[in-house]
Amino acid sequence: MVLDLIVRNAGLPDGREGQDIAIAGGKIVAVQPGMEGEAERVIDADGQLVSPPFIDCHFHMDATLSLGLPRLNTSGTLLEGIALWGELKPLLTHEAVAERALRYCDLAVSQGLLAVRTHVDICDDRLLAVEALLDVKRKVAPYLDLQLVAFPQDGYFRSPAAAANLERSLDLGVDIVGGIPHFERTMEDGARSVRALCEIAEKRGLMVDMHCDETDDPLSRHIETLAAETVRLGLQGRVAGSHLTSMHSMDNYYASKLLPLIAEAGVHAIPNPLINIVLQGRHDTYPKRRGLTRVKEMREFGINIAFGQDCCMDPWYSLGGADMLDVAHMGLHVGQLTSREAMRFCFDAVTVNSAKVMGLHGYGLEVGCNGDLVVLQARNPIEAVRLRAARLFVIRRGKVVSETPARIAKLSLDGRPQSVDPAAYAPTENLTY
Ligand SMILES: [Zn+2]
Repeated sequence: MVLDLIVRNAGLPDGREGQDIAIAGGKIVAVQPGMEGEAERVIDADGQLVSPPFIDCHFHMDATLSLGLPRLNTSGTLLEGIALWGELKPLLTHEAVAERALRYCDLAVSQGLLAVRTHVDICDDRLLAVEALLDVKRKVAPYLDLQLVAFPQDGYFRSPAAAANLERSLDLGVDIVGGIPHFERTMEDGARSVRALCEIAEKRGLMVDMHCDETDDPLSRHIETLAAETVRLGLQGRVAGSHLTSMHSMDNYYASKLLPLIAEAGVHAIPNPLINIVLQGRHDTYPKRRGLTRVKEMREFGINIAFGQDCCMDPWYSLGGADMLDVAHMGLHVGQLTSREAMRFCFDAVTVNSAKVMGLHGYGLEVGCNGDLVVLQARNPIEAVRLRAARLFVIRRGKVVSETPARIAKLSLDGRPQSVDPAAYAPTENLTY
């Protein structure tokens, strides 16, 4: 049998070394040392880390790469961002949204990011962004898995046409029910929106992913309703709460009651560290809250946590680059996740944990999984986060879809080495992860 591809001498995220990964018919057919056989293409990983692809389970592809349209966010604040999105929305065209999204997906693939869950604003009656992203989803399917969330950005009850538009979007093929309960007019409306939206998901057999409690208000407790509705409707494992930043500011006693409720409901948590650290705490003087949700405590309760990117060069955030290692790096710092075990978790939070959130089939490095891999210029997952390592090869279904040269600097220093490979600085002893 001639294989599609063999990646030789790979280090795996679980710490195994010297592994060969063989792919045939788009699937992984062997993971073992010293694999015999020929392949159309052979890549020598040279002991570097080979991982399943990165996943971003919280993004806004209808807004990405719109930075500067119709003007720049000069103050860098959320309020100017919201105003800007309001100015931009009426000017959007199907072609422009689709083109920016496709261009973003090119960047994502080059960064080994091969699955994205994007929210799409359904409050514009034209549903132009919905149709554009459904087109994009079909176009990118050979190289990137795209899930769409029907997101009532201006409020499910607060925006008059949102309820009807949400149903229309789901009819058109949008995959997931979204929401924004903390943005409704009252706490009561917020809780009502959670109930209504979960019922829609239950009726249609869909997943739920809500922007939930993206605020510093410790009394914003819609996650409690989201967990309760998940249990009531039997949606365990199909519901995600995005952001959950109010938990940062909650009373400890209340949080101690809430955490087991979230765990019991099997609700996934999706913090977005880059955005949470720049947008939360803005009303504080000093001390200034970080706003990241309680990642350590959630982990202790076995709650599945995935980090999302949220934004890339859009009205709310001028930076970003489809780099999920950058997201993990920020999450590690802001969450003070610095034990060896916790740093290792940060890599999972942009790979395997995210696959659980999205319900992806065939994700992973076991035999029978999809032949989707990233070869990184790093010795192990912690090093990959530390270096925000170069993606040397990105492989989709056994085919190389992106290659980046290793980041090697040439040095001109008397009596010193002639080149520097940042990955070669990895610690060589006592590597436990
Ligand atoms: Zn978001």
